[in-house]
Amino acid sequence: MTDTLPRVKTYQQSIGGAWVDSASGETLPVENPANGEVIAHVQASGPEDVDRAASAAALAFQEWQHTTPQDRSLLMLKLADAIEAKVDELGRLESQNAGKPVGAAIEEIPVVVDNLRFFAGAGRVLEGKAANEYVAGHTSLIRREPVGVVASIAPWNYPIMMAGWKIGPALMAGNTVVLKPSIRTPLTALVLAEIAADILPPGVLNVITGTGAAIGDALVAHPKVGMVSVTGDTDTGKRIARTAADQVKRLHLELGGKAPVVVFDDADLDAVIDNLKTFSYYNSGQDCTAPCRVIAGPKVYDRFVADLAGQVKTIKWGDPSEGDDIEMGSLIAGAQADKVEGMVKRADRGPGGAEIVAGGHRPDRPGAYFEPTVIAGPDQKSEIVQDEVFGPVVTVQRFKDEDQAVAWANDVRFGLAASVWTADVGKAMRVAKAIQFGTVWINDHFTLVSEMPHGGFKESGYGKDQSMYAIEDYTVVKHVMIKL
Ligand code: NAD
Repeated sequence: MTDTLPRVKTYQQSIGGAWVDSASGETLPVENPANGEVIAHVQASGPEDVDRAASAAALAFQEWQHTTPQDRSLLMLKLADAIEAKVDELGRLESQNAGKPVGAAIEEIPVVVDNLRFFAGAGRVLEGKAANEYVAGHTSLIRREPVGVVASIAPWNYPIMMAGWKIGPALMAGNTVVLKPSIRTPLTALVLAEIAADILPPGVLNVITGTGAAIGDALVAHPKVGMVSVTGDTDTGKRIARTAADQVKRLHLELGGKAPVVVFDDADLDAVIDNLKTFSYYNSGQDCTAPCRVIAGPKVYDRFVADLAGQVKTIKWGDPSEGDDIEMGSLIAGAQADKVEGMVKRADRGPGGAEIVAGGHRPDRPGAYFEPTVIAGPDQKSEIVQDEVFGPVVTVQRFKDEDQAVAWANDVRFGLAASVWTADVGKAMRVAKAIQFGTVWINDHFTLVSEMPHGGFKESGYGKDQSMYAIEDYTVVKHVMIKL
């Protein structure tokens, strides 16, 4: 019987330039959430594997830190080229592992490539401040030193893209890395390690695969790990921060989001709806910057709700293998669909209260699906407005005036991304200043670019991804004073 089942690949971990099994010999299955099928097995790392990986990274750091920016840049460019040569393979694997539409998954890979190319260049112009004599007879200069070994902990929503955001600046700053992808989506990170094995010196990039529960604390607390960079849930970030506090370890935290979309009465409504139809439901809404919390002006609210609901009902969703025209795939797992379903049910208070005007159901079919959903009129204090759904759900609220719009936008514990939609430049700039979010788009929402920083205010964390600021985050400032 077993012989007739299709065989799936068992991946090893990449530690110190070698491919190794977990110390326990145990493996874990990896599923395709679009249909629940097991598509691979990976090593179930334990604390012993963490120790091997951190030690390998610490050993590699001894030489890597002394390579020149040019040396590192040339290797980073080679890595980007090698990833580019596998765009299709990586995109398809990501689609299979994360339930994303194939086209969308493939489109993510050139973004990773561009990011690595940006960091290959940016790492060469990383600088300390100009030297000067601030005390007579003494010259001061600033150096930016690498931290050492960075534990890079990635989430499941954009597995290889988040891996790229982490390894690009960390390696270019002269650090070595232990990358821990989410156990739900480890496959593209392992292929990345395969690609890197031909390019980077052994131990510079190590990839281990374990659950947060099994190896999270061991990795964060490992004495050879100098810095922890995590993209994940805010509760995960808090737990990591508590563990890291014992050794006053450096942290880079990219956590949850709950992005407001402030739509004034003079906004181009068609443009807003067009944007939301694509980006609120992109990646099934499992995006920390997803435009998910519309705060609409009193005059346009009714038309906005009706038009958005009408458009959202046309989104073609389903198993990505059903065809290239699938616009929205599955959620990452049944547990995530449970979470979304629970929050939507609790939000639905019917006419007079919050009302589901599109979607709202979990379809009865295999795989982790939830319909693209719009909820009109929830209370500002309600769970659906305050907490991250991380699913294909948009809420729409009606504000009275600009002050209330700003107050509501800020009245959540998150502060990652937001957008303001208006034809009035002055109003746009006033609101952009007043709202506490790391990225504010005006008449747009979602576009990111390698040169500009991405990161949060408040419980969305601290530290920036992308841009020069990211490389700086992976360094320690040192003052060197020379007595003349
Ligand atoms: P998660 O918090 O469940 O897991 C993130 C990573 O942390 C995984 O690799 C996980 O194994 C690991 N982890 C879990 N417990 C740990 C522990 N105790 N110690 C060390 N590591 C541990 O997050 P997720 O569900 O994979 O991703 C979704 C979350 O990520 C959402 O909250 C989303 O907003 C956030 N996110 C934020 C950004 C951003 O840029 N701010 C980007 C993408 C996703």
